[in-house]
Amino acid sequence: MRLLVVEDEKRIADFLSRGLQSAGYAVDVVHTGEDAVERVHSTEYDLVILDLGLPDIDGLQVLQKIKNRKTIPPVLILSARDSVDDRVKGLEQGADDYLVKPFAFVELLARVRVLLRRGQPTPERLQVGDLSLDCIRRRVTRSNEVIELAPKEFSILEYMMRNRGRPLSRTMIVEHVWDMDYDGLTNIVDVYIRHLRSKIDDKFQIKMIRTVRGIGYMLDAPDVAAEASREPMLA
Ligand code: CA
Repeated sequence: MRLLVVEDEKRIADFLSRGLQSAGYAVDVVHTGEDAVERVHSTEYDLVILDLGLPDIDGLQVLQKIKNRKTIPPVLILSARDSVDDRVKGLEQGADDYLVKPFAFVELLARVRVLLRRGQPTPERLQVGDLSLDCIRRRVTRSNEVIELAPKEFSILEYMMRNRGRPLSRTMIVEHVWDMDYDGLTNIVDVYIRHLRSKIDDKFQIKMIRTVRGIGYMLDAPDVAAEASREPMLA
């Protein structure tokens, strides 16, 4: 997920970019409206966080230019102007949400997550190798065998399958699966991964859940063809 932060106040820009990065997002920062427009036209962003009070072009004008594009990222407006007028104008011009400064970072993060989820097509079924997860019926099978999972185990597995092949830190998993009020230790993730492994991997030759040293965990299935060629020939 790649985010663009448009904010001329350096202190706020740094605060946002650090916070969002530690939440697992890739973040670019620009300080002017001009740069924002240029960036949005040259890069595919999943979300734009746009301050309205910019030194060159007005944020609302930037918004207009963003919304002229063919593929439009969701836009979250930040505004110090607590005027209803600006907010209404922003939303009318196609902003997806707004926050009035000052705001708490958790509030921003919650909105960012909602907007990102909205933009994402959610497949009904996830498939990695012979592991299959039905998001609607909440059913998991491996090699056509049904695997019973507790709700949190299911959520972790779903998150890992959606991010197949991508190392996920314990923090990312906790933030994704537990709600924002959870302030316990991230090593609860290790406990759940142990359970998941015993259900998903133990019986099978190919292990999908891998430990990524120094980071956390990753789920992937090796390329079937590559795996077959490595397998010893059986008489
Ligand atoms: Ca500003």
